[in-house]
Amino acid sequence: MTEIDLLADADARARRFVAANDTRRVFPDAAALAALAGFDEPLTDSGRPEAETLAMLDELGSPAAVAGNGPRYFGFVVGASLPVAAAAERMVLAWDQSASTPLGAPGGAAIEAVAGRWLLDILQLPSESAVGFGTSASACGLTCITAARRRLLAQAGWDFDRKGLAGAPEIRAVVSDVAHVTMIKALRVLGFGTDNLVVAETDSNGRIDPAKLPPLDARTILCLQAGEVNTGAFDPFAQIIPRAKAAGAWVHVDGAFGLWARASDRLRWLTEGVDQADSWTTDGHKWLNTPYDCAMAIVRDAEALAGAMTSDAAYSSAGADAQKNLTLEFSRRARGVAIWAALRSLGRAGVAELVERCVGHAQRIGASLEEAGYDVLNDVVLNQVLFRAGSDAETAAIREAAAASGEIWFGGTVWRGRPASRISVSSWRTRDEHVELAIATLRQLKAMQPGDARDT
Ligand SMILES: *Cc1c(COP(=O)(O)O)cnc(C)c1O
Repeated sequence: MTEIDLLADADARARRFVAANDTRRVFPDAAALAALAGFDEPLTDSGRPEAETLAMLDELGSPAAVAGNGPRYFGFVVGASLPVAAAAERMVLAWDQSASTPLGAPGGAAIEAVAGRWLLDILQLPSESAVGFGTSASACGLTCITAARRRLLAQAGWDFDRKGLAGAPEIRAVVSDVAHVTMIKALRVLGFGTDNLVVAETDSNGRIDPAKLPPLDARTILCLQAGEVNTGAFDPFAQIIPRAKAAGAWVHVDGAFGLWARASDRLRWLTEGVDQADSWTTDGHKWLNTPYDCAMAIVRDAEALAGAMTSDAAYSSAGADAQKNLTLEFSRRARGVAIWAALRSLGRAGVAELVERCVGHAQRIGASLEEAGYDVLNDVVLNQVLFRAGSDAETAAIREAAAASGEIWFGGTVWRGRPASRISVSSWRTRDEHVELAIATLRQLKAMQPGDARDT
């Protein structure tokens, strides 16, 4: 098979897969999962045919795919790839360039520069900020915290690059009691030590209580959150950030999905004051609906990010704005191209409409679940609905039955020490009819549960 025939076969298979997105089971059935054992074959010496390899990938892999790209997937906050973003990604794969610097990928660098500018525009963040396009909010959060600590140490007269941390002044990190696990992971990986984290208490919706904000100073990194993963809540930035800045602290905001509320005139109030922070992370692959491995580290002080992330070498030298000098990656594809394609085709109004539609769906689901007798535990301000169905056993049984139906899928969590379920709406594909189906399924499952035994 020629290269072109093989790519055409892959494309035909991918098109068939995507065409079935509306109808496929959301979570694969047991037979499809069992068939994955077919991949478990020994590595051969001589290799196997390319066409057969591709066919196997599709025939075993596709039926076992979770339909995260479908309209009835309400798990996590995963979005579905916008057609134009997925198509742009296909072009980037065809180019197959290392977009570390403009030398390796002139087009990638030019497009990512525009994508960064548009991102700051639509999120209404300071226009002087540097934007690194990394793999994930996990990696970009780690990147921002690295830049933050290095900058605070420099202000304390300590050269972190040369001396490292041994004997350095202590930099503390303050996180909320519902900080995302990847924020904690970044701090752990960077050596802050989970025992040393200072924890700020939050209210019933998961927002830091400004009255209980721990003391802050010029050796503190304060990590705030735009969009808590269970409730969708936002820390009260306008009340907290000016105090932190007056104390000399660095403020970082994890806005993996919630920062996109800023694209909407109706929702932006939720994020009021967030633009006063020093750094932000957000994902493309969640609410902007780009393909995976697409996120942004945004740092107001561009030099602080470039200073921390530089990987300039004699054989590969570029400006401070080259992506390899703003991210953890050295070899990389131009992941900002998918962002560019999404923003270019949607425009400001299209992004606002996508975000507002998802929030509307979530609010409709929240209100309907309450009517159906569920306990909705959060204020549905964004795209997250956190709920329980009476007892813990009933909550779990309903979630399992919903997954087994193949019609919808959503995940479980623990909120304030008790099991709960969470529905996220973040896909451009999810329309009213899918929301109605989710509501009808949950209504029916609630009615089928024996009694209303509540744990206390
Ligand atoms: C998903 C998420 C992250 C991590 O993002 P990845 O891109 O999956 O690494 C961080 N914070 C919040 C609030 C999230 O929802």
